Amino acid sequence: MKEFNEYCCHKCFQESKISRFLQRMILCSVCGNKRCPKATDHDLECTHSNDEGQIGSVYGIPLDKK
Ligand SMILES: [Zn+2]
Ligand SMILES: [Zn+2]
Repeated sequence: MKEFNEYCCHKCFQESKISRFLQRMILCSVCGNKRCPKATDHDLECTHSNDEGQIGSVYGIPLDKK
């Protein structure tokens, strides 16, 4: 079983289907910020920022928000 911190982003973690109930702090593999969009989805660009409300980040605006 992989350690949680081996997952590069939330998307990879979710796809692993280990548990949807376990929410671990996953940090961007580039800048180390949890609110970086890249920490949510490695297809997104690293912003080197830990600001709230970044598009694409699970800590920002939800992707399904219209
Ligand atoms: Zn990933
Ligand atoms: Zn980053």
